[in-house]
Amino acid sequence: MADCLFCKIIAGEIPSAKVYEDELCYAFNDIAPQAPTHFLVIPKAHIPSVAGIDGSNSAVVAHIFEVIAKLTKEQGIASYRVVSNIGEQAGQSVPHLHFHVLAGRDMTWPPG
Ligand code: 5GP
Ligand code: ZN
Repeated sequence: MADCLFCKIIAGEIPSAKVYEDELCYAFNDIAPQAPTHFLVIPKAHIPSVAGIDGSNSAVVAHIFEVIAKLTKEQGIASYRVVSNIGEQAGQSVPHLHFHVLAGRDMTWPPG
């Protein structure tokens, strides 16, 4: 999608610190890390948020969770949090589906 920040990152038009890439998804370090490990995993297809997932595009979500399990194992991360914010009130600032992967510090519950 032309005006989407994360589509531009996938296309290489905006630089990013790549963690992983395959034909379906892209993972990169968050520019403003909220934990010692904080990367984002995004589908290459533009989906605005979890609210845009349906039967036509949900396979990529299973794939992304496989990738998250693989990357965290490879990095020796046993405990981590996966977060996806949906909409303004929940704190979504980029309207391209993304899963935050946070690790390396104690986390609180409930989240703020
Ligand atoms: P959200 O607020 O939508 O849940 O998450 C968006 C995330 O994208 C934020 O954690 C923010 O720091 C990150 N972000 C915003 N712009 C950029 C960028 O240009 N590069 C990278 N690597 N991360 C970004
Ligand atoms: Zn996009």
